[in-house]
Amino acid sequence: MANSRFKAVEEAVRRTPLEAVPPAGETSVYYGSKVFNRDAMRKYLSEATRRKIYETIERGATLDKSVAEHVAAGMKRWAMDLGATHYTHWFQPLTGGTAEKHDSFTDPHGRGSAVENFSGDLLCQQEPDASSFPSGGLRNTFEARGYTAWDPSSPAFVVGDTLVVPTVFISYTGEALDYKTPLLRSVAAVTKATSEVLEYFGISGADVQSYLGWEQEYFLIDTALYAQRPDLILSERTLIGHGSSKNQQLEDHYFGAIPQRVLEFMKDLEFEAYLLGIPVKTRHNEVAPNQFELAPVYEEVNLAVDHNLLVMSLMRKVAERHGFKAILHEKPFAGVNGSGKHCNWSLGTADGIGLMSPGKTPEDNLRFLTFMANVLKAVHDNNGLLKASIATAANAHRLGANEAPPAIISSFLGKQVSAAFEELLNTKDLVKIGAKKGYSLGISQIPELLVDNTDRNRTSPFAFTGNRFEFRAVGSSANCGAPLSVLNTIVAYQLKQYKKAVDKRIAAGSSVQQAVLDETRETYRAAKDVVFDGNGYSDEWKAEAKRRGLDTESSVPVMIDAFTSSQSIKIHKDTKVLTEVELKARNEVRWEEYSKKIEIEARTVSDLAYNHIIPVAARYQSLLLDNATKLKALYTEKEFKQLASDELEWIKDIAKHTSEAKKIADKLDSLCDKLEECEGRKKALKYHDEVVPQLEAIRQHLDALEMIVDDQMWPLPKYRELLFIR
Ligand code: ADP
Ligand code: MG
Repeated sequence: MANSRFKAVEEAVRRTPLEAVPPAGETSVYYGSKVFNRDAMRKYLSEATRRKIYETIERGATLDKSVAEHVAAGMKRWAMDLGATHYTHWFQPLTGGTAEKHDSFTDPHGRGSAVENFSGDLLCQQEPDASSFPSGGLRNTFEARGYTAWDPSSPAFVVGDTLVVPTVFISYTGEALDYKTPLLRSVAAVTKATSEVLEYFGISGADVQSYLGWEQEYFLIDTALYAQRPDLILSERTLIGHGSSKNQQLEDHYFGAIPQRVLEFMKDLEFEAYLLGIPVKTRHNEVAPNQFELAPVYEEVNLAVDHNLLVMSLMRKVAERHGFKAILHEKPFAGVNGSGKHCNWSLGTADGIGLMSPGKTPEDNLRFLTFMANVLKAVHDNNGLLKASIATAANAHRLGANEAPPAIISSFLGKQVSAAFEELLNTKDLVKIGAKKGYSLGISQIPELLVDNTDRNRTSPFAFTGNRFEFRAVGSSANCGAPLSVLNTIVAYQLKQYKKAVDKRIAAGSSVQQAVLDETRETYRAAKDVVFDGNGYSDEWKAEAKRRGLDTESSVPVMIDAFTSSQSIKIHKDTKVLTEVELKARNEVRWEEYSKKIEIEARTVSDLAYNHIIPVAARYQSLLLDNATKLKALYTEKEFKQLASDELEWIKDIAKHTSEAKKIADKLDSLCDKLEECEGRKKALKYHDEVVPQLEAIRQHLDALEMIVDDQMWPLPKYRELLFIR
């Protein structure tokens, strides 16, 4: 009898590529056609209204009520012309992902008739029933009020029959309940601090932007196979499964030809992304089998984060159409690479000056080194906090494993930039440097050298890559707004300190340039312990990092303590990004989330052991026993011992592994029951210290059984099927 696994494999193998929906004409024709962008505004809003709304978008001016009324009317008309019947406020709760509640435009009007209604008030603010979103105690359920408020800096769009309005989500008392609010505040802080420092370089009133280009990694698994794996369904990762004999050792998947079925999925996904004005650009296979990556062109960070969240949900939706399940978990499979979301981050001005790009003149390069030094100092002083921003139960599997970054935040600079900083440190003849031509720094050579800067260091969590930093420790399923908020916040704070110090030097009689040069040198000197160009996986680095005072903590529930350290509270308060109350609430949510995730895994694996694996192992054991009994009946004692010796071993092995697995499953269940009485940090610590090791332990036994039990009987799709069928 074919078991359900074989049926699923058959279905998966038989599935043929579904041709992607043919796009209507060239990309540029339909790009952004579902976004209420400037083209749409030109058609649907009066010039006066447009002028007001541009001011709001570009300079954060407050929108008055009458203008909001006009915008809402135009937006409604535009959306209805695209077939929309509903609208929603779209927000980013602390659960991760996004949330939305759809309301119809239709309002009953008079006797049996109706009108489509969407007022300025409805556009600007709504009150979703927010009681079931996590708030970390900020909002007791009996006063469940939470408000969503329109974020005009990210354009509204239409998905299916719904007009979607990006919003922030705040409590009745004004605390942030989402990821977007602190991100917007952090952008305000860093752009202000940056533009103030830019004054030293003769650039005043600059429109500074914080940019993000994310690279989204993901796995695709056939839906038929996925449906046979309760662990993937419930926890998005395989909790058991023996490694396939072939996995990624041949390195033949990375950048290889994209399988046809996957390519059709990607084309479809890109089409949908273009409709929403998401500038997706790069697609390729990743290192692990059935792992892929999608990256757009970088954008202003708030928009980029919204676009990333949209792409994640599009991915899931479009994948279903193609018979795939898109897996965004950081570590769906043991033994092959997990998925990250590299966040390429930089600061620049709207008119094109990249502050992380070396320039052509010595003056430009001093500016470059200044911003570099300040970023490094921020990362140095707050490496633990930065790590806290990416620490989750799922990402813990990547950090510290020999893939992606280690659980110590350091920064790779590459030879040229390191050399330029060394030179800066050793330059004594400062007075000359102030003179127009008399730069004794060799830094004017940097641009030429950097043109083909191919320096790469895959092990660095925060690597400089020529014109930006690439924060590689971010997890694939994360809302990258969270780490980006922290990054912007610590850099904003550092730039403020820097400015104070430079002003002090100027007040003491230094020229501006001299003061900048001196302070940049000292900033780098104080930061350089975070710079590390070597192998981040080595044990020597762990020891060395400890000596340098970097955070080497590896337990997630402890890592996130850094988020509410006195330093973090001071910085977040100073930059007005999050209050102490908000920070503490966020950690409560994160501890709770950690515990819940591990609890689900523990209960799922115990279920798998009891209901799926142990019964099958017992059945196979009984076949062996049956065979042995027959051998014993037919042969002499001596012949029997010879003939059945292997079988007798297997019978014992099965007994050993099933009994151990059962013991651990019982232990997992009782631990989870016991921990229900605990809460918060204490509970998360216990899950980390007591439950996680048992998850590892039970897996050993269940995976050993997979190797012994007849393949015909094994109920769950195996790694080789999950990872190689496409
Ligand atoms: P790689 O895999 O080589 O790191 P990708 O091409 O996959 O690079 O992704 C690089 C990302 O970095 C893209 O999103 C790109 O637009 C973005 N990027 C390029 N320059 C900058 C910059 N100055 N600031 C922020 N992001 C940038
Ligand atoms: Mg890449």
